[in-house]
This record gives sequence, C-alpha cells and structure tokens, in this order.
Amino acid sequence: MKSDRQGILKHIGRTPLVPLERIARGLSVLVKCEHMNPGGSIKDRIALAIVEDAEARGVLRSGMTLIEATAGNTGVGLALVAATRGYGLVCVMPEKMSIDKRLALAALGARVIITPNAPPSSPDNFRSVARRMAEENGWFLTDQFNNPANVRAHEETTGAEILEQTGGRVGAFVAGAGTGGTITGVGRRLKAALPGVRVVLADPLGSGLADWVETGRLGADGSYAVEGIGASEVPNNLHRDVIDAAERVSDEESFAMVRRLVREEGLLVGGSAGTNVVAALRIAARGGLDGPVVTVLPDSWDRYRAKPWMQGWAS
Ligand code: PMP
Repeated sequence: MKSDRQGILKHIGRTPLVPLERIARGLSVLVKCEHMNPGGSIKDRIALAIVEDAEARGVLRSGMTLIEATAGNTGVGLALVAATRGYGLVCVMPEKMSIDKRLALAALGARVIITPNAPPSSPDNFRSVARRMAEENGWFLTDQFNNPANVRAHEETTGAEILEQTGGRVGAFVAGAGTGGTITGVGRRLKAALPGVRVVLADPLGSGLADWVETGRLGADGSYAVEGIGASEVPNNLHRDVIDAAERVSDEESFAMVRRLVREEGLLVGGSAGTNVVAALRIAARGGLDGPVVTVLPDSWDRYRAKPWMQGWAS
C-alpha cells in the first residue's frame, strides 16, 4: 500500500464489522459496513487499488482520463480518486440504474453516458461501449470486470480485515457478485487462512450465476431489480474454485430485509445488502459451521430513494 495517499483516500477501508443484534435472533451473523466508506460503497476500495496499480505500472499519468462501465458505485469511488489525483472520468452505465446514482456521478464531475439495457453480446451493452470509447479516445479503461487489482484489493484489505476483526474465526463468508471481486478476493484470503471456511454466493433470483456455481453452466437469464449483483455472463474476476455453494434470493426478500436492516439495526444500506443478509441468515440457521457467518453491506440507502421499492416506507 502506498503511503502518499491524500486526505479522504486515507480513510477508505478499515470499516466496522458488527453483529446483527435483533434480526439474527441468537444466530451469529457479522456484517461489514462497507456503506461507511467515504464514497458510500465497497467500491471505493477497488477504485483506489486499480488507480494505484496502474500508476505503479506506469500506464496511468496525471491529466489522463479514466473510463469505466459502472452500475454507479465504482464510478463514485473513481470520482473521489480522480478528483484528488487529477484525472478526468467518464462513466458508462445501463439505463436500469437509479437516477440517484446518475446525479451523484454528474455532481462529482464525471461525464455520464447512459446505454440501453442491452445483453453482453450487443455493441450497445455498457461494457462494450466503455471498451470502444477507451480505444477510440486513448482513455484508461479501469476495467473492474477483468482487472486483477480488483480481486487483489479484496484479498489484501477486505479479507485481511475480516480475519483480524474476527480473531481468525469465520464459519462462512457470503456475498453477491457483480464483478466477482469481493467474493473471489475475500474467499481466497479466508480459505488460505481457514481451510474449513465455507464461501457462499448470494444471487438474485433471475441471475444465472447460482446455477453456474452449482453445475458449471449459466442458468436462464431473468429480470430482477436488485442492483450491482447477479449476471447473465461470468465475469473474469469471479472464480468458481473459491465458491462452495449458492443461495437464491428474490427481490421481495432482499428489499424486505433492507427495510428491517434500516429500522431494526440502524444500518442504512442498499438492496444488495438485503440479498447478502437473507442468504447469510439461511446459512447461519443451517448450522454446522466453525464460527460466525460474515457478509458485507456493499452500499448505502441514499442511492435508491427514487426506486419503487423504497416508496411507501414513510407510511
Ligand atoms: N452490491 C452493489 C450495490 C454493487 O454495486 C456491487 C458491485 N457491482 C456489488 C454488490 C458486488 O461487488 P463485486 O463487484 O465485488 O462482486
């Protein structure tokens, strides 16, 4: 890790790990509060790691422009890093992502390009568009889906912190996968230290990844509203060898759990935190583990105020 981090960048990571006091009803489930990062999500970690890795390799120099295909959170992390390190930033996001995320990125000074909700094979897909624009303009594609610095950041920071904060006792680690960086990096670090730990993918119902974990073949592609996790193709940063099992979680279960996390635990988190906690509670309830179940709360509720699932909370 570099020692010349300026200002707020020094405060990325080292997030609290807290037990669910009320929702878990005596089961041991610990949640890592990634929504408390400066940019409001776990993605601050990889934004910083990817930029520092590219700087160290000499492929990124001050004044250049970064471009990323992002559901929003990586964009916010990159915007913090870009602002403090003197880079331009272009974010390409699919139109299904919340207006709150678009506004946040634009307010942070990023140029935002919205693409149709096109499948990965389409030239209009957000990742295809980012790749093409990087080539055409000579911009640096931070490439969170393929960049090994993403996985490494979670091995060296998120995973290492979990080991330290639990005193090396973890029964299972549960997380959804967008790029796969979190589950692959943390899973790898935990398995290196604790051979008996179980690593479980929390997957939205409608994503094809749970089938892939179980059979090696992607499941049917359906629609779901939870943002940032699940996929209809396997990202290069998602490695099946570290994953033991998968749990499928419906939108209804995820969003109901977010409301409980907010109201009963004071954890002000977004939809994928609900997915992770539903899966973590199931794993804890089945028992047979050598330690607590740990999961991450990837982002903050303030990204989702305009979403249908948060309407009606005030009534
Ligand atoms: N939750 C949210 C809200 C996200 O934005 C992301 C990243 N796309 C994830 C979870 C999944 O993290 P990872 O990319 O490390 O798999």
